[in-house]
Amino acid sequence: MKRYVARCTPWGTIQTGDFFRSLTATEKAAVMAHETGHIRNYDTLRRLWWFLTLRVFWDFEWVCARCREQELAADAYVKEQGLAHGMRSFLCRHPQPRSAFHPGTKERLEALNG
Ligand SMILES: [Zn+2]
Repeated sequence: MKRYVARCTPWGTIQTGDFFRSLTATEKAAVMAHETGHIRNYDTLRRLWWFLTLRVFWDFEWVCARCREQELAADAYVKEQGLAHGMRSFLCRHPQPRSAFHPGTKERLEALNG
């Protein structure tokens, strides 16, 4: 079971999970744009590098802050593509709390609206 919506791989592809099919067409377009934003910025490769160089262990807070920035940058790419309404809908229907590596729904919505 693929218990996620979508994710990008270090080799530049997007994998959709089981929850992807429950999204509306505009939400799917926004989520795909978000993952494309990650690929365009080489985010997964950067995260892999931070893991391989062990930076995630000796500079944990720095890595967390960069990961949160990557998420907001991927959302900014969604907005640039004119798909912010789809991302807002997705975030409102599937709210997520803030974590060390990920901004919460409230912060993401504020950034999309800003
Ligand atoms: Zn993301």
